[in-house]
Parts: sequence; structure tokens; C-alpha cells
Amino acid sequence: MKALITGGAGFIGAHLAGELLKQGNQVCVLDDLSTGRIENVTPFECDPKFSLVIGTILNEALVDKLVERCDVVFHLAAAVGVELIVKKPLESLTTNIKGSEMVLEMAHRYRKKILITSTSEIYGKNVKGPLKEGDDRILGSPLKTRWSYSTAKAVDEMLAYVYWKEKQVPTIIVRLFNTVGPRQTGYYGMVMPRFIEQALNNQPITVYGTGKQTRCFVHVKDVVDALIKLSRQPQALGEVFNIGSQEEISIEQLAKEIIKFTKSRSKIKHLSYETAYEEGFEDMQRRVPDITKIHKLIGFKPTYSLAGIIKDIVACLKSKP
Ligand code: UDP
Repeated sequence: MKALITGGAGFIGAHLAGELLKQGNQVCVLDDLSTGRIENVTPFECDPKFSLVIGTILNEALVDKLVERCDVVFHLAAAVGVELIVKKPLESLTTNIKGSEMVLEMAHRYRKKILITSTSEIYGKNVKGPLKEGDDRILGSPLKTRWSYSTAKAVDEMLAYVYWKEKQVPTIIVRLFNTVGPRQTGYYGMVMPRFIEQALNNQPITVYGTGKQTRCFVHVKDVVDALIKLSRQPQALGEVFNIGSQEEISIEQLAKEIIKFTKSRSKIKHLSYETAYEEGFEDMQRRVPDITKIHKLIGFKPTYSLAGIIKDIVACLKSKP
């Protein structure tokens, strides 16, 4: 199989590229290195089955050429990370809407299978848990930048769904819930790499808001495994799937667990959302996926516990020269 991974130099994309190569597939990565990092893919450069194209998903001629040459597209290129979205809302909207439309249009042109990665942000402030794929989206004002990300990804989902329904383009949509693991950067706001780095450096652990908000963290290896299995499953076409863990933890408790595991001297420091992000910022209080649908189709079940995930990330950081 020849796979094209847009955003393949990003955290999840690079893990996916590594696994696809390991399984003997050809992999072409398209990445503009805006949030992706060249170091993520340098280990693959000596593999003749691997190629890297530095460019944007907004470049029509380039996307046209690359989609034509592949068998399947994994579309991961996106502006991600709450902090990045809040800091650069215009750029984020453009990449997430126009970029996805471009990639979908090319998949349509060449009738290629395309797996689109969406996000649990889709559900917005819906605190009902566990969230099912058909559940309502509850969003704040469109003038609050956080919701622009949720909306942009919802447009991507609608486009993918409609291309399937009206034009029979083989599309699959996945909603990723707090995916973490080795090599993720905390630079764009993600809590897990931030807390671990703060703890290892004995710096204050920055807990935003009350810290009572909860999340469920899934290991990137479990996610990548699910993406590959779904891409080979005919019954996944035209469908949307949650991918995540159901091990729920509050952010304050996460900070405590990380301090304990790393034997850090760090203390917890509470920061208001206004200080951390912007005036009027709204957070999700709870986010737990219902994973019945993906479990039924491909037997998905996370293999890493939260403790196992923390251990793996710390071990990886410590092994770095
Ligand atoms: N968070 C935090 N400290 C940080 C970064 C994030 O307390 O340094 C909080 C954030 O406000 C949110 C949770 O951790 O409640 C998860 O944040 P992340 O950006 O990783 O993911 P998302 O909000 O998209 O679930």
C-alpha cells in the first residue's frame, strides 16, 4: 500500500508513518513543518519506502500530484493545540477548512480512500459522558476563538460525509480524544508533555482553572493501530468513530500522579484561564468517549493504562542524549 500522510511530520503523523513503514508499506509525508518537526521523520530517511515532501495542503498542484500517486490518504495536517488556536485563529481556520477541502477534492478527483482525523473538540461543552458519535455539539459564541477550532473540524467532517454520500468518495472520519505519547511537544498547549517536562525540571506544575476538569488520555500507539485497522475495514467507509481511552482523571490529579511518578520537587501552581489563554476562555469540564462503535468493528481497546503512558513518556525523555 502507498500511503500519503498529510501532517506526517507531526506527533501523531510521524508515529503513523513509522508503523506503516514497519508493516512494509510505502509512505509519503506531506508537511509544511509549521507545527510538525523534521526530527520526527529523520529516522525514516534511510528507508527507500519513505519520502518527505515539504509543502502545504493549500498547494493545489502539489496535493493533486501526491494524491494521484497514492492508494490511501491519511489526512492529519491541521492547526492543533488550544494555545495555538487561540494565538493564531485566522491561520488555524484557513488550514483546517480550506486545507481539508483541498485534500478531499483531490481524493474525489482520483477516487482515493481518505481517512480524516477530527477531534473530541467537536462535542464542545457537552459534559454528558461517555460521548457517543451521534451526540449533540454544545458550543459557545463563535466569537470565542476556542470554538472556531471545533467549528472548522465540524466543517471538515461535514465535507467528508457529504463527499461520501453524494459522490461516493470512500471517506472515514475519526475523532481523537487527548492523544499523548513520546515525542509530543507541550509547545502548543498540550497538558501531558507540559506537566512531565515541568516535573522533570522541578518547576511549578501549571494547573489551569480549578483543576477539577477531567480528561481521558490515550497512547498514540493505540491510536495509530486503530487508524491503520480502520483504513483497511470496508465497513468503516462513510462512518465516524471516536478513538480514546475511558480512564478518566482530573487535571489536578494528573499533576499529582506525575509528581509522584517522577519523584519531583515541583509544586502545583493554579493559573486562571484568563492568564493562561485569553479573557472569557471556556474549557470543557469533562470529556469521556464512548468507544462501543470502534470496539465492535475492529476490537479497539486501549492497551496502555494512564500509569503506563506516563512511564513510557518519561522513559523516552530520559533516554534522550
Ligand atoms: N491545562 C493545564 N495546564 C497546562 C495545559 C493545559 O491545566 O499547562 C489544562 C487545560 O486547560 C485543559 C486540560 O489541561 O483543561 C487539557 O488540555 P489540552 O490542551 O492538553 O487538551 P484539551 O483541552 O484539548 O482537552
